[in-house]
Amino acid sequence: MRVREAPPAIRRANALERPVEIAGRLAATDPLRGLIAAAPRRASGIAALARKLCEIPAPTFKEGPRAEAIVSELKWRGMAPVEKDGIGNVTVTVDSGRPGASLLVTAHMDTIFPEGTVCRVEERDGWMYAPGIADNTAGVAIALFAAEEMLKNRLPPRGRVTFAFTVGEEGLGDLRGMRRLFEQGRGGFDAVLVLDGDIGQVLSQPVGSVRYSLMVTGPGGHSWADFGKPSALHVLIQLAEPLTRMKVPTGPRTTFNIGVLSGGTSVNSIAAEATMLVDLRSVDARALGDVEERLLAIMRGAELPGEISLRIQKVGDRPVGDAALTREPSALVSAALDRLGIEAIPSASSSDANIPLSVGVPATVVGIRRSVGVHSTGEGVEIASLGIGLAVSLLSAAALLEAYGAADAPAKGASK
Ligand SMILES: [Zn+2]
Repeated sequence: MRVREAPPAIRRANALERPVEIAGRLAATDPLRGLIAAAPRRASGIAALARKLCEIPAPTFKEGPRAEAIVSELKWRGMAPVEKDGIGNVTVTVDSGRPGASLLVTAHMDTIFPEGTVCRVEERDGWMYAPGIADNTAGVAIALFAAEEMLKNRLPPRGRVTFAFTVGEEGLGDLRGMRRLFEQGRGGFDAVLVLDGDIGQVLSQPVGSVRYSLMVTGPGGHSWADFGKPSALHVLIQLAEPLTRMKVPTGPRTTFNIGVLSGGTSVNSIAAEATMLVDLRSVDARALGDVEERLLAIMRGAELPGEISLRIQKVGDRPVGDAALTREPSALVSAALDRLGIEAIPSASSSDANIPLSVGVPATVVGIRRSVGVHSTGEGVEIASLGIGLAVSLLSAAALLEAYGAADAPAKGASK
């Protein structure tokens, strides 16, 4: 496996060699100590907010109404200035007014569920169930509470924390919200903490992905009268078949999936149009490039009947990012979890963190809920876990701020 070596500035001895000490000291110091102790009692308040936000549908590309609700919640809690950028990201900064690190904490607003999905929240046995309630309405509600608690308790003591509620994290959103925040390089941030996933999970390996839409079009016709004319669906199925047999390495882990295959209009028509969506993933940029080339070779090498055309469109491109840049922030977050009595579970994932990692900004993802059935209509989140998620978020953010605000922190040595 090809893993890029960390640049010397990051390998150098610095404050990050003592994540356990940092997390331990911060957790024992007020006001953070008190906030961590009180966090379990915030669970029902976070749950009420998550329920309210979850019932405002937010499919990827249609996050507007939920974003407006988040703006109102932030303002109502005394946060200012609350900003919304051109594509719908909502941001607010808690600034100590004193020099220190600039930390970005994010939670994505969008869900994978299409328009029209019923998002009513049902509660039973200490759990809430609804599409998107865990991924990532839980993260959004926790981030909102964390922002409010920081403001009220004059945290952070140094530096600043920007909370961003991002659009377009899921699927074909292709991390567009996060891309916008980093379109001018480092975005002014020293480190990034993404709130998403189950409690204990910490990013160990960013996963990159490439997505394609493959659309076949043909003449169409009547299934009986025009029999013999080429069918877009038949051709697409033939194109799909060799894809399902592609050989991919298990190390570095690389995967492929035809997630959607659709087309045609009725049982007695020759399909005039058919489309498939293909997702390719890998923890290694070169392996991802290889499998992408194979897919394209299959498509371009196919002999298509006359009257049939194939349109190949890249619809997603998430950079793998620099895995080395997750090490320090993930070590800090793992130490914070350990201090809270939670076992850290290293996990590979594709998330908003891929973007900062691809432009040289240290980033990690930490889990903030206990969930079931994520990305299914039976999705659920445990209410009590939301209080734990708040404690995890506050201590993780504090540890990152402290480490990256140190005079010899790696981020300070890197070019902005
Ligand atoms: Zn998510």
